[in-house]
Amino acid sequence: MKCLLCGKEMVARKGEHHYAKASGLDVVLQNVDIFVCDDCGEEEVAIPHITELTTMLSNKLISTFTFKMYAHYSPEEGWLLHTKSL
Ligand SMILES: [Zn+2]
Repeated sequence: MKCLLCGKEMVARKGEHHYAKASGLDVVLQNVDIFVCDDCGEEEVAIPHITELTTMLSNKLISTFTFKMYAHYSPEEGWLLHTKSL
């Protein structure tokens, strides 16, 4: 993946990404690919199946009062929401 700002090749690593802070809800995406540009420091996060994730989150926002959640993507099961860090 090339950097959108400077065009250099970005380096991929796995990490956590804070996805949404709406209504006090903090969703931490775990084990997602984060591309970092060594040159300018730009970061891009690759979120798989983002439509599935946003649908699940909007359903969850209505039904939960948990303020911090973790989301973990597995190719077999899709997005899983949980309240504790894996
Ligand atoms: Zn760059």
